[in-house]
Amino acid sequence: MNKISDVRRLLESREISCRELTQRFLSAAKAENPALNAYISVTEQTALDAASAVDQKLHKGEALAALEGVPFVLKDNISTAGLKTTCASHMLENYTPIYDAAVWESLKSQNAVIIGKGNMDEFAMGSTCENSYFGGAKNPHNTLHVAGGSSGGVASAIAGNVAVYGLGSDTGGSIRMPASFCGLVGLKPTYGAVSRRGLIAYGSSLDQIGPITTCVEDAALVFDAICAKDPGDMTSHGSEPVSGKLTGSVKGLKIGIAKEYFEGLPEAIQTALDAAVRLYEKMGAQIVHLEFPMLKYSLPTYYILAWAEASSNLGRYDGLRYGHRAEDFTDLDDFICRTRSEGFGKEVRQRILLGTYVLSAGYYDAYYNKAQLLRKSIKNEFSKMFSRCDVLLTPTVPVTALKFGANLTPVETYQTDICTCSVNIAGLPAVSIPCGFDNTGLPIGMQLIGEKFNEAGILNAAGAYERETAQSFMKTADMGVKL
Ligand code: GLN
Repeated sequence: MNKISDVRRLLESREISCRELTQRFLSAAKAENPALNAYISVTEQTALDAASAVDQKLHKGEALAALEGVPFVLKDNISTAGLKTTCASHMLENYTPIYDAAVWESLKSQNAVIIGKGNMDEFAMGSTCENSYFGGAKNPHNTLHVAGGSSGGVASAIAGNVAVYGLGSDTGGSIRMPASFCGLVGLKPTYGAVSRRGLIAYGSSLDQIGPITTCVEDAALVFDAICAKDPGDMTSHGSEPVSGKLTGSVKGLKIGIAKEYFEGLPEAIQTALDAAVRLYEKMGAQIVHLEFPMLKYSLPTYYILAWAEASSNLGRYDGLRYGHRAEDFTDLDDFICRTRSEGFGKEVRQRILLGTYVLSAGYYDAYYNKAQLLRKSIKNEFSKMFSRCDVLLTPTVPVTALKFGANLTPVETYQTDICTCSVNIAGLPAVSIPCGFDNTGLPIGMQLIGEKFNEAGILNAAGAYERETAQSFMKTADMGVKL
């Protein structure tokens, strides 16, 4: 798989111009998209304009910024002025924002080359990317399987070698799950570490933007490029860059294992994680056994809070200002009702209805308030665990990439978020890294969770493991651009 450092070496040694490199990625993206469905749109002109600016700098002998000239994919819920941002919804199928998201401003200012906008579950609601209005993104390791959700297109493009890195969003696992399914690194930063300005909101107290990459070093580089404090997002706290802080040593690191995360795991995943734990011990880390009894409440807590927030956030799509508009209607009420029924897919409609229900008078105390109390208890249990360890090690997802049309019930699908969503509830940072394959060759992911703003700690532990295993779990799919 391609790394940021590979691209920089090629550009700086002038082996290839940035325009040529960009052309290669654009052609490959277009050629592979019928098979992968990774991109909702390919942003050719914007990519070539950035590439020309990079070539001019190289021509003048100027130094390049960390991500300058590197082809990447942006999830299609991150606003890009002048470029369609659909959220994979019929509602926003023809919507072009008039302003840029903060993260896109940051990347644009260093001439990052955007190849296109990544496919996703509609409004980021889902775990397989099958809720996309444009059809699901496919897993490059086996296209009969899903790439994961909701940032499935971003992961599919990177694992399919038609982007070098990408930005996704993670409300309950949407960066880490597709990273796990596609054999990539996915970092969900601490809540507030990365600006959410211009990210189309799903659950505002849970949403975070973060990188999906082929290696830990790249995750750190991309995080550093987007972690500045932003006065335009009231919840932005900003964070220190982490790249320079990765020592590569885990000697004396206390790794917590909470047994609840491992209950009922398929054998291949259990075996891969056991091996990772043994390796960490060999590398000098100390394993601490912990309990997390509240874990079982994390799914209902997450789904009540996320839906409640979604029902409010998605209230803005009324057809009056922008987005889809019903054509046939009798009066204003009928217009709004038809617009929303036509514009939203089934899963989104279901979630808005249930979110409205849990917030309604009479049910608010029974559901929403209770979920807020549980959120506090879950946070407390995390704090207790972190008083005894530095990072927690868990599976990322209790399954490997599902087959398309696996026909799980909604609840069965929601259960795949069990290891990831508790992290969003507590606002913590977590990274997923590849740690093995199941017996059909599909990647397995391991999750490392840290205390707030300890991105450096989890990336350091992840990087040490990656180096020790000689990146042997990073399988590359036979397609796209090979640098
Ligand atoms: N699968 C979860 C959901 O459907 C998480 C999605 C996300 O992180 N955006 O809500």
